[in-house]
Order: sequence, then structure tokens, then C-alpha cells
Amino acid sequence: MNIDAYDFRDINPDERILMGPGPSNVPSRILQAMAEPCIGHLDPYFFSMMNEVQQLLRHLFQTNNPLTIPISGTGSAGMETCLVNLIEPGDEVVVCVNGVFGTRMADIVNRIGGSLIRVDAPWGKTIDPEAIQKALKGCTPKVLAVVHAETSTGVCQPLEGLADMAHNVGALFLVDTVTSLGGMDVSLDRTKIDAAYSGTQKCISCPPGLSPISFSDAAMEALGKRKTSVVSWYFDLSMVKSYWGEERRYHHTAPINMIYGFREALRIIAEEGLERRFKRHLLNHRALVAGIETMGLSMLVPESERLPMLNAVCIPDGVDDIKIRKALLNDFGIEIGGGLGELAGKIWRVGLMGHTSRRRNVVLFLSALETVLRAEHVKVEPGALDSAAAVYEEK
Ligand SMILES: *Cc1c(COP(=O)(O)O)cnc(C)c1O
Repeated sequence: MNIDAYDFRDINPDERILMGPGPSNVPSRILQAMAEPCIGHLDPYFFSMMNEVQQLLRHLFQTNNPLTIPISGTGSAGMETCLVNLIEPGDEVVVCVNGVFGTRMADIVNRIGGSLIRVDAPWGKTIDPEAIQKALKGCTPKVLAVVHAETSTGVCQPLEGLADMAHNVGALFLVDTVTSLGGMDVSLDRTKIDAAYSGTQKCISCPPGLSPISFSDAAMEALGKRKTSVVSWYFDLSMVKSYWGEERRYHHTAPINMIYGFREALRIIAEEGLERRFKRHLLNHRALVAGIETMGLSMLVPESERLPMLNAVCIPDGVDDIKIRKALLNDFGIEIGGGLGELAGKIWRVGLMGHTSRRRNVVLFLSALETVLRAEHVKVEPGALDSAAAVYEEK
């Protein structure tokens, strides 16, 4: 096939305000770190950087777990890593499903031959702990799997008590923290979580490409007791851990520059401090909701169950979902997300994740949304910006 190399120009993506379900905006410090020279994955300088990444990541996960590392791949790679390592064919696994990501976990359990027990709740609602208890007591579960922050609906699943429920029946507690990590309290040791995975492009505000995971001693013990080998070669932690451990045994080539970026993202988080970061996410969320509700729009999720970093706004009757999102993107450079699955066309997903979670973005979004809705002759009550400002002033 003949091509003319000069037909292909330099890439020139427009700057966007990333207020969707991820990726979020990336601080330039991270992009600069990623532009540093690529070195070898067995270079001693890189080894020392790997150790620092692990220290910083344990701080973020609030854990002392030795096996706390970034997996090569996006959040779903971490999901798959946890499930393929903890589950053997025939193992019973209780998966809580109230959105896209619980559904994805259930799919993976089926693919690896686990025996799936689903606990369902309607999308937009939390899972009832009593239903979880009942499911756990009705089988001999190896793992209880829960999504902490269901990005497809904006629901926060309370984790209190779930670890004890799982441990009381001899199961490990696995939590999806892809959207919650870096934006709200995720404390693995205090919450007694045995395995967790996350992603870099949500509240960590790094480009997509790595999936941080952490395994407790009990989870490592379960790995050691496996009777069968892990079905995935790439995600087999018994091998991956030798590269991150003292042996430094080659398994696959680490994505070097991605790890530079991740280290910088973790450093930025440590500089801000976890408490301050969580408070910032909450404050900007409250201001956004105040503006949205003043406009006369409503939120999908009841107040006590909302995520601070993902706001599900109900699309008013008769409003053209795609047209509004297009206008936000074309006229204001703002990206927001649409609904998925049964919520398609019913909600907008407005992300305030990591670096994106800032007052300037809240104010710009509210004002832009008002403009594009009015242009479509949608009735909008005045005062959204005042309501948002009032939230910032009361703090
Ligand atoms: C985004 C997301 C994932 C999947 O991550 P990818 O990076 O898209 O592979 C999994 N779980 C939750 C809760 C997410 O928000």
C-alpha cells in the first residue's frame, strides 16, 4: 500500500474541559514527566522509581500491603487481574450489580468459569446490605465483589460492614475503586478490603494506561493456595510480582513513560494531602448540584447516595441529549458523558474528577449549560451561579 508521509500532519488536538466520566484533565506537570527520556525496564534508576511509586500508591490506598502496584492496562485490566488471580473455575463468587461496572465484573467471572451469584439493585440505587448478607449465607463464596463508585449511575455504595460479612463466611472482599480512588476516602486497611483495583484517568488525573491494584495478606495467601494456574498469562500476579519484588525478574516490559506520569500524579496528590483533596471534590460537587437544582433540573441519585466526582443529571423531558452535548463541546470545549445502558438518553454524567474538580469548571459548566438549554427554548430558572457561589462562600 503506497502512502505519502507528508499527507499526515502533526496532531493538534484542541484543549478540552474533560467533565465526562473520565479521562479527566491532566496537569501539565504529569505530561512533562512523561516526556522525559525513555530508559530500560531493568535500569537501576527505574527500579528506584518503581519503589517510590509503590510508596506513594500505598499512601493513596491507605494500606501497608506489600503487593501494591500499577498493572499495565486501563481500569478493566485491574478488574481482570483481581478476578483471574482470586478465582478458580468452579469457585462461587458474589457480585453486586447496579450498573455497567458490576455487570462487567459478572461477565469476567463467567468467562473464567466461576460460579456467579448476582445481587442486583436497580441502576441509580445502592445495593441493600441485607441482600448481600443473604447471598453470602446461601453459598460458599470465595469472593464478594462490589463497585464502590458506580460511574455509570453516580451511586456511591457504602462499604461499612461488608468486609466483616465476607470474612465471616470465609470470603475475600474485592472492591472496584476506579472512580473513587483519589477523590474520596478509600482506606484499604481500615475498611478491611482484601483486593482493590483502580484506574489512572479518573480522580488521579493521569492519562489512561495503568491500573493500580493492592492485595492484602489474605488475598496473597489465597493466591499461594491455588490448585490451577491463572488463566491469563499477562495478568498472572505470581509472575508480575517477581518484577515488582526484589528479584526484578522480567515478565513484560513496563510502560516506562506511563509510570513516570503516574509517579508525578501520585506526588501531586501527596502534596495536596488526601483530606484536602476529598474536601475539594465534595465542595465542587455541592456547588454544581446547587446550581443544577436552582436551574430547575434534578439529580438522578438521592442526596445521601451521591458520588462527589460523578454527577448524574436527569435530562428534562423533550430535550435533545446529543444536541446539547454537541453544543457544549463545540461552543465551550466542554465534554460531558451521556447515559449508558438503560440510562441512555435519560441522564448526563458530569464528572468533577481530580484536576477537573475546580470552581472555574463548575461555574463555566453551569453558565454554558444554561446558554445551550435556553438556545433550545428549554425553560431555565435564573440564579444558578448565585447558588453555586453561595456554597463556596459558606465553607
Ligand atoms: C472507568 C471504570 C472502569 C473501567 O476502566 P477503563 O479504564 O475504562 O478500563 C471500571 N470500573 C469503574 C467503576 C469505572 O468507572
